[in-house]
Amino acid sequence: MYPYATIDEALTDVLRLSKAMTYKNAIAGLPLGGGKCVIVADPSRADKPDLLRAFSRHVQALGGRYWTAIDVGVGPADADILAENCDFVFARASQYPDGFNPSLFTALGGFVGVQAVAAHIWNRADLKGLRVAIQGLGATGRDLARQLHEAGAKLVVADVKDEAVRDVVASFAAEAVAPEAIHVQDVDVFAPCALGGVLNDVTVPEIRARAVCGLANNQLAEPRHGEALRARGITYVPDYVVNAGGMMGASTVIFGTPSREASRQRILGLRETILSVLREADAKGRPSSDVADEIARARITGARREGG
Ligand code: NAD
Repeated sequence: MYPYATIDEALTDVLRLSKAMTYKNAIAGLPLGGGKCVIVADPSRADKPDLLRAFSRHVQALGGRYWTAIDVGVGPADADILAENCDFVFARASQYPDGFNPSLFTALGGFVGVQAVAAHIWNRADLKGLRVAIQGLGATGRDLARQLHEAGAKLVVADVKDEAVRDVVASFAAEAVAPEAIHVQDVDVFAPCALGGVLNDVTVPEIRARAVCGLANNQLAEPRHGEALRARGITYVPDYVVNAGGMMGASTVIFGTPSREASRQRILGLRETILSVLREADAKGRPSSDVADEIARARITGARREGG
């Protein structure tokens, strides 16, 4: 839910997001297609519950061909409102113990991603002393910071919200820098966990990290920035590969009873997926983003051929 300025802007975004979701499900090995929807509205509107109910009646009319969940502007408590009129909703607050947010599944995937990067580039099994710069300390970035800190990594962080920064600095011994300086830090890994489009003509030449591995959607401003990163010797873990943990964890309800442990095990498996993408990219001298797209497209084509 976002107050898009025009319908064209909303349509462009929903098509980009639905494409990324399709590729994400394919690369994560989930037996799902992919789709996304947007509601053109400010999520702070007083009548948000009414909008959610109207929307969920529409999803119900699709009879299970499309399932909906949470994202920007729509959280787990909202998903429970969606479920009042609709059987095809996951990531609902009531499906988890108090205080558990499905975004934590995504953050676990990010941690697994940094571990995979450390193994791939430095042949390291631990993260002690690894320097990581995290951009954005919200639902995903904060928990990624917690896990990295507990594993012994050194953190540099930025957020546009001062209180989010203060919390992470105090809780996880992080160093704070200005939001506009986070991508130029002299670190091992840069982890974008805020916005899309952060890997662009301005930022890519300025990045000093050896790797980029973060949870934000649509990080490459354009597909060619995957090659720009490769040409600079920067290992890039494609966003939809490393941020599939949320989908892998929360979507279990589509197939059966949700289990946090089963979800966790599945998300740990992202390590091998990420390593295979990075190895193939290195072996072929090609951008990891292109390699991941090709694997995803091949799986989608294969599933279509089988009528799946
Ligand atoms: P969030 O809104 O909880 O957190 C984002 C944080 O980034 C906020 O604290 C915000 O203040 C901060 N921020 C905004 N602009 C910034 C800037 N210029 N510099 C630094 N910080 C900035 O969102 P989230 O759920 O953590 O998601 C972050 C990204 O990950 C989004 O792109 C989202 O689509 C993607 N993602 C999230 C999930 C999930 O499970 N939550 C799953 C897949 C992908």
